[in-house]
Amino acid sequence: MKTEPHPTSENTADAEETPLCFGCLTPNHFSANFCAKCGAPMTSYAASGPFECLFAEGHVYRQAAEKPKNLAVVLGVWLIFGVLGLGGLFIAIVGSSSGVSSVFFGAFQFLISLAMIWRSTRSYLAKPLPPLSEET
Ligand SMILES: [Zn+2]
Repeated sequence: MKTEPHPTSENTADAEETPLCFGCLTPNHFSANFCAKCGAPMTSYAASGPFECLFAEGHVYRQAAEKPKNLAVVLGVWLIFGVLGLGGLFIAIVGSSSGVSSVFFGAFQFLISLAMIWRSTRSYLAKPLPPLSEET
């Protein structure tokens, strides 16, 4: 009569239940909210926690800037940060009569938006073209 669980079968059960990252397929600890390798959110808590959602959102923007997978991502970056950048420019111009702080804030927002658009577009254009399929 066995009272103790078999150690090897327990280990294989643990290995089978290891959650994989959705982005890079790296096995992570079952209680991990973020992937240890790429930082992608792995649980619903990672996207909804009061502090954790900032990291989840940052991961999305990093992905969009560093390796945009298709043109829609680049166009989305242009749309979001184009509006944000124009808003920053507007704040800088309108706020120049009221004070220096709004000029700095507007210029900062404009430059950050410009940098995001630049990085995302450059990363997309620098991506090597997919190899031509040789179907005959
Ligand atoms: Zn990952």
